[in-house]
Amino acid sequence: MTDKAKVQQLLDFIDASPSPWHAVATMEQALLSASFTRLSETQSWQLDPGGRYYVVRDDSSIIAFVVGDKSLPESGYKIIGAHTDSPGLRIKPHALHQSGEMLRMGVEVYGGPILATFTDRDLSFAGRVSYRSEAGEIETQLVRFEESLLRLPNLAIHMNRMVNEEGLKLNKQTELPLLFAMSSKEQMPDQLFSELLVSQCQLLAEQVMSWELNVYDTQKGAFWGAQQEFYTDSQLDNLASCHAGLSALLDETALQSGNTLVCAFFDHEEVGSESTKGADGSFLPDTLERIALARSLKTEDYKRALANSFMLSVDMAHAYQPNFPVAYESEHKVYVNKGPVIKLNANQRYSSESVSEAMFMSWCQEANVPFQKYSHRTDIPCGSTIGPMTSAKLGIRSVDVGNAMWAMHSIRESAGVLDHAYMIAVMQCFFKDQK
Ligand code: ZN
Repeated sequence: MTDKAKVQQLLDFIDASPSPWHAVATMEQALLSASFTRLSETQSWQLDPGGRYYVVRDDSSIIAFVVGDKSLPESGYKIIGAHTDSPGLRIKPHALHQSGEMLRMGVEVYGGPILATFTDRDLSFAGRVSYRSEAGEIETQLVRFEESLLRLPNLAIHMNRMVNEEGLKLNKQTELPLLFAMSSKEQMPDQLFSELLVSQCQLLAEQVMSWELNVYDTQKGAFWGAQQEFYTDSQLDNLASCHAGLSALLDETALQSGNTLVCAFFDHEEVGSESTKGADGSFLPDTLERIALARSLKTEDYKRALANSFMLSVDMAHAYQPNFPVAYESEHKVYVNKGPVIKLNANQRYSSESVSEAMFMSWCQEANVPFQKYSHRTDIPCGSTIGPMTSAKLGIRSVDVGNAMWAMHSIRESAGVLDHAYMIAVMQCFFKDQK
């Protein structure tokens, strides 16, 4: 498959995944077609060597794994970690409200999006709805509105004369609500909204109880550049890393390595990861321990397995944008299409250290893939990832890596076509590693 075809698969994956709940459902489909079996955390687990399994926690975090036939205490777990959520706007509980002759959709800011990028885009919303079934149980289903229903029109320059000098500043409470409809005298806003929801869910209005809904951009991903060597879509941070990890896991040679392979993709990274299903919660430790228990390992052997494990914490990196040279550390510019980026930070905002860094470099060399090293400007606070918290909790050696991209946390991010295939190739090397 060409590098571009791999990116087209990524764009199709993102376009099918307008919310973290949809991202997990899309990955679940790929796993089921590759003969993975779904496990439930409420049931007991019987795991066979060579078996392929996955477990979902609360619909938006997923851990897929292959039980290797090699000795787990000696070979450890080979883990790829990433996150399923992206910063953006979430619909408020009382979603619709009237403003003059118009109905607006109230939104809450989730994580740290670049808000100005949400203006003048073809927005809609998707997520999950909880309802009471006919049998009286609380059930959940995904919902997605395909057509563009929402918009945040910019203020005309005639009323915002300094916008090009001062940038677009939006008050999060008063200036972010999304325009939805002309108001109608016949219907109350809440009634209108639940009718809209049930029209999409095949439910009765009285069954609907609650929802979590993400605002998304209906524009599909695309290639751009003189040679079409770049691509753009929403949520590249971090669905690009989830897709790369999953592609590596589903590669047959990795599956046959005899290693115990794990892909752990968490929700809530953009808001600090502290939740039942976040990377700072118990999902990964619980799952690793249950794999060990199902293989009849004693506690000491489980701890040995952890000590022999390794995690690639994969999240996107900041590509050099030549229009803004002062934003970058001049000696650590990283570029798109130049290979995976190893992220380094002495203050442990990234989990990489010299040994894990060297190990990642050796997998790149083995895969014949170039790599780059990134250090943030010393006078600007550095972001972080799920790497430090997960490796601290489990005592697992880890490295923070990711592909370079532009416009992180914009609703329309960009990256380089070559890097996606590079990352998958290195991940495959890591999964197959026999040391
Ligand atoms: Zn990220």
